[in-house]
Amino acid sequence: MQVRWNFKLLPNQTQEATLEDWMVTLRKHRNYALRERTTGFETNNKDSESSIIYGYGSYCDLESRIEFGSCCPLTCPVLKHGVVPHNLGLATKETKVKDKDTKKVLETIVKWDNASGIQMKVTTQLRNSLWNFARVDSNVLQRNVAHLDTAFSNFYKLGRGYPNFIRRLDSFEYKPGYVKLRHIRKNYATAYLPGIGDVKFHNSRDLTLIQDLRTCTITRKGGSWYISMLVNIADILPDVMPLEKCKSVVGIDVGINKLIALSDGSFQENKRISTNKRTARRMAMRQRAISRKLKGSKNKIKAVKKLRLQQHKLAQHRDGYDWQIAKVVVDTADAIAKEDLNIKNMVKRAKPKHDGKGGYKRNNAAQKTGLNKVILDASWGDIFDKIAWLALKAGKPVVEVSARHTSQECPKCGHIDKKNRKGEKFLCTVCHHVDHADTKASRTIGKRVGLVFLKNKKTLRADCAKVTPSSYQSDWVETGNHAFEVAGNDASNLTVGYLRDMAEPLKESPHL
Ligand SMILES: [Zn+2]
Repeated sequence: MQVRWNFKLLPNQTQEATLEDWMVTLRKHRNYALRERTTGFETNNKDSESSIIYGYGSYCDLESRIEFGSCCPLTCPVLKHGVVPHNLGLATKETKVKDKDTKKVLETIVKWDNASGIQMKVTTQLRNSLWNFARVDSNVLQRNVAHLDTAFSNFYKLGRGYPNFIRRLDSFEYKPGYVKLRHIRKNYATAYLPGIGDVKFHNSRDLTLIQDLRTCTITRKGGSWYISMLVNIADILPDVMPLEKCKSVVGIDVGINKLIALSDGSFQENKRISTNKRTARRMAMRQRAISRKLKGSKNKIKAVKKLRLQQHKLAQHRDGYDWQIAKVVVDTADAIAKEDLNIKNMVKRAKPKHDGKGGYKRNNAAQKTGLNKVILDASWGDIFDKIAWLALKAGKPVVEVSARHTSQECPKCGHIDKKNRKGEKFLCTVCHHVDHADTKASRTIGKRVGLVFLKNKKTLRADCAKVTPSSYQSDWVETGNHAFEVAGNDASNLTVGYLRDMAEPLKESPHL
């Protein structure tokens, strides 16, 4: 089984300085390579036959503007087939055709190499002439070019944006087999990173399980260093139980007011990790502090560091909380039913409204932006991913159902109406079924997978009808709650007829 394990690195001062230096060199390397390809594309590719002479040095060191000699390969242009370096031999690649049985070389085909192939060869030359490139491990530099290739193929094949010049690089990668684990102790171990040395890290897992260490990524987050290893371990995932054999299903409905409502009537609260009043204010302060500092000053760098640290802390907080929630959800039942949400579409900005006279009407853009922030802060997608992983480890199926009308459909009579729902409250306009809106939605989701509620069985928890006091809006809910209070904890008394009797005298209420 292949999994990703993350650890926090504890580099010493020298190692940290080296890592910082590498990041700068790698960033320049990537930006050079990108500039080279872009220029080649914009100029030569239109007419690759006629030769174009370039002014050397135009794309030398971005910061110091120092020219690295007229034959610096990275300032050379790109042709249709890639970079044309000083030595034309670099622009070709030899492929040897071997006989299948005797493995003798039959012939050698010489072809034009692609841009990344040439740039990798050129990088090797650079390491001989430039001390800062020589310091960086050659494989790391090659992966750096390969990352640019990925960015280009994403642009061409997946329709992503054109690769950007980056101001700050925060991660690099080692190819499989280069990083070695050493000195495995009870609570720490060291990883040998070529070019950097033995770096200590907190060891929170059983490293002896590792059969094969694959790609390792070193990342800088909020001033700390992390290693992310792709490892092959002996653990084998259990078979996922078929849905027919599952004895219980839990439906989950994600929301803002309650982060997750489970069909057993329980809730997971939304902590609003980065949009709660206190944090949002603090983040705004940090941001404001940055914008008030002089550009390029040391104080600005300090302020940016502070903001980054804060963001990192919040991200970690959210990550931990999401794992907690996912665990609770997966432990509840044998199968999990969730709605198929298109979160990307949910967080689109408000469309402009034209007033027909060349102007615009109010479209509540600020409100929508605020809502988008809250939706993103809730990190539903992240929770779904974590649930999926934990369920896979436990051999439980996760079923996606259509999210259509889950919050508007009455579970009793099937009536679908927008008016059924009012904030946290659900009251069917036809049969007057009363429920907590989110719990009801989670049950509708569960029902679509085959969740059955047994009659006269306590499936409702007493607090499932609780609504947040601040959102009491109409008197019928008071009555509804009262009914639940009268019934006490014995949910078997909660028949629909009883609730309807309580609701009926208030039919003329303006809210209905
Ligand atoms: Zn109904």
